[in-house]
Amino acid sequence: MQELLLLLLPVAAASGWWAARSSARKEKKKYVGETDPVYFRGLNHLLNEEPDKAIDAFVEMLEVDSDTVETHLALGNLFRRRGEVERAIRIHQNLIARPALTRDQRAQALLELGQDYMRAGLFDRAENLFRELRETKLHVKPALKNLLVIYEKERDWQACLEIAEQIESITGDKMLLQKSHYHCELALAAKLAGRVSEAQTHLKRALNTYRGCVRANHLQAQFAAAQGDYRSTVKILRQTADQNADYLPEVLPDIVNGYRQLGELNDLRTYLAELAKAHPGAGAELVLADLVKEQEGEDAAATFLVEHLTTAPSLPLLMRGIELNSRMADGQSVRFLETLRPHIKRLLDDKPVYQCAQCGFAAKTLHWQCPSCRSWSTIKRRAVIEPEA
Ligand SMILES: [Zn+2]
Repeated sequence: MQELLLLLLPVAAASGWWAARSSARKEKKKYVGETDPVYFRGLNHLLNEEPDKAIDAFVEMLEVDSDTVETHLALGNLFRRRGEVERAIRIHQNLIARPALTRDQRAQALLELGQDYMRAGLFDRAENLFRELRETKLHVKPALKNLLVIYEKERDWQACLEIAEQIESITGDKMLLQKSHYHCELALAAKLAGRVSEAQTHLKRALNTYRGCVRANHLQAQFAAAQGDYRSTVKILRQTADQNADYLPEVLPDIVNGYRQLGELNDLRTYLAELAKAHPGAGAELVLADLVKEQEGEDAAATFLVEHLTTAPSLPLLMRGIELNSRMADGQSVRFLETLRPHIKRLLDDKPVYQCAQCGFAAKTLHWQCPSCRSWSTIKRRAVIEPEA
């Protein structure tokens, strides 16, 4: 409350100043500032810690005319920034209701009110205002950007595509990656609804829009696998992993499955060995250890794990080593290894393994759009899962 008081006092003073200036200009004698009874009433409410009534008084005192619009806007803005959205809405609504506003001032007030509604989570109302702004051709860029946020929240991907194209045409900035994700979303929705050919069409558009979109490539590979075309699955995903190793942990299981379906375990082993060397910690070592066990038995796998733990230690690898050794060891060693297991499992579970490169948001699963900063393709698995140093 103390803080609000400090904030409102200069506003009150400014209100008096603005009102005085505006009155002086119009040479309309009106008592303002310290002699205005409304000013005193407002101040009184402030001192009595009744900020709502104080604001009403100051807003009432501050006549809306072309000179004071900026003050109203600044006041509303101030409240929104402080998270007091209801007050911001009241001020901006009050402003819009005045017929004295110029076209530009009204547009500015609409933009502010739209942002208040966004902040309050009133997306339907915000959408109407931003659409109105778009029609009036004023503040079109922020209006479109806000509309894009709304349509993304509503998962209206077709509308997102249209808005993205409008933004591209007025700013000249290409939004290829984002548009590719919208096409991927449409492809997934079509696939879920059993409309396979429509899904394929959206996927083609996703790739045509942005050839390097990992998600689109991954989906295409999964579509190929669903049709039994594992050769294509492996080819597409190996290319994807080559171009963007950050997503190797995401695509690796499908690559492994593709090789297995093709019955080419030796080729898989060669490929995994290359990956483990080029990208330690991305998960290839673990799959390789399992494959060594499958082909050569537990002793060979244990030797392999010890080697890799020495050169590239990681918690998942350590966990697998313990699992393997508990089965081979006896008596006291087994009991010792078994006591280690839950601790390592907890260390593994505790760690959020995905992180947004843009804002640092941490997650346990992959999100293509960051839930925090709403950027696309910025969340990646942290390359190496290491125990704390
Ligand atoms: Zn983020």
